[in-house]
Amino acid sequence: MHPDLSPAGNALLARTLAYGKRADVAATFAVHNPADGSFIGDVADMGAPETQRAIDAAKAAFPAWAARTARERADILRAWFRLILENQEALAEILTLEQGKPRAEALGEIVFGANFIEWFAEEGKRLYGDIVPTHAPDKRCLVLKQPIGVVGAITPWNFPSSMITRKVSPALAAGCTIVVKPAEDTPLSAIALQLLAEEAGFPEGVMNIVTAKRAEAVAGVLTASPDVRKLSFTGSTRVGKILMRQCADTVKKLSLELGGNSPFIVFDDADLDAAVAGAMATKFRNAGQACVATNRIYVQSGVRAAFVEKLRAAMEDLPVGPGLEADTRIGPLINPAAVAKVQELVGDALGKGAEAVLGGTPHPRGGLFFAPTLLVDVRADMAIASTEIFGPVAAVYGFETEAEVIAAANDTPYGLAAFLWTRDIGRVFRVGEALEYGMVAVNETLTSNPATPFGGVKESGLGREGSRYGLEDFVEIKYLALGGI
Ligand code: ADP
Repeated sequence: MHPDLSPAGNALLARTLAYGKRADVAATFAVHNPADGSFIGDVADMGAPETQRAIDAAKAAFPAWAARTARERADILRAWFRLILENQEALAEILTLEQGKPRAEALGEIVFGANFIEWFAEEGKRLYGDIVPTHAPDKRCLVLKQPIGVVGAITPWNFPSSMITRKVSPALAAGCTIVVKPAEDTPLSAIALQLLAEEAGFPEGVMNIVTAKRAEAVAGVLTASPDVRKLSFTGSTRVGKILMRQCADTVKKLSLELGGNSPFIVFDDADLDAAVAGAMATKFRNAGQACVATNRIYVQSGVRAAFVEKLRAAMEDLPVGPGLEADTRIGPLINPAAVAKVQELVGDALGKGAEAVLGGTPHPRGGLFFAPTLLVDVRADMAIASTEIFGPVAAVYGFETEAEVIAAANDTPYGLAAFLWTRDIGRVFRVGEALEYGMVAVNETLTSNPATPFGGVKESGLGREGSRYGLEDFVEIKYLALGGI
């Protein structure tokens, strides 16, 4: 029994841990609570043989799953969706326990992730092909959309539940089967989802979870296997590039959701209160550990002082603490390496002339907590300008002109999300179109939703998740040519 969990949370955690052990796998690894380093439980540490078994199971399950009607697949997906909603509080507690984010955010993630399942269950029914006007009287040209086959998915720890449902639900709705390797820091949320998927009635082998302490062996088998026809990865650009190279030999289809370096641009004419609220939401959600998190805040000179003062006031009393404590807004970072990296970035910026208006150090609570930090006078030559911070650090830069800020915002290999605050409609189009990003949010904070395409350009990735484009990422297009008519 875990003292901070509800009876329902404890019951689901016990089932999750029991399921995650796997009788046929001897090795295990420990999962810890980042809020206090305490031990939560052990789960199976799988390697190459278990990965191959999962691929074989997914391959065996594929023909029958692909042959079902979209309606039949949707019925099971919807059953999974309902089970997740029924267990949302317990799933959120498990998520917070292993990942650290505040309980309210965890609950938001569970529901957000579940919504993809419901949406793709429906969208799978609309996976239309085409009949192309013929080029000869005795011929007909048909375009079929068929499921790709077995999909491999590798997911991160920062959104350990929704990054799985966002991949699994379009894959299964399209008729693919899947092998998922969750992040080593957060395997429990993945196992709990698998448990509920089985309860929902997915046939054996349709969805498979491979938990592992070290990703390499599992990823090596997934990427080398000719039976895995697509890899969908969310994580760092560094690992994305490794996986892309590894997939070359079998010419696998790839979806990559990689790192970001989001600019957040505030023009003189912006609604400053709305912009500050937007900065708070996009910077501090998940303690800044999101690929779309605001990374560089550019504020035009006319409102810089006012914006910084409002942001400082909003940040001043942010409650920092364990995610399971009632008032917490900022939880711990995921592991010691994350804290060290944030500290190094802040130290480099301060050393080169930035000023810390707030914070600048690990939080007095110790452990993996970092103090909400507001840096001003940040410049492009500081490491923090070109690195994903992944921590609760707001870095403010100055600018004078539209052209200058567009150039600065685009001066990065990343291109995931950008935020723009202005009330000038002409500027919305000029700047919105000039920003080299897959997603541009204007006067809003860009919460992803199932109906809209999420993804980046440049080194932020390939493909889109969510929306009809996200479903199309799991099909092959086949041209069926008929003659002799
Ligand atoms: P982050 O920086 O967010 O931890 P990573 O890219 O390191 O991102 O991790 C995302 C996912 O990629 C996790 O599931 C992790 O286990 C996995 N991973 C890490 N290193 C490798 C690797 N060399 N090959 C394949 N997968 C990896």
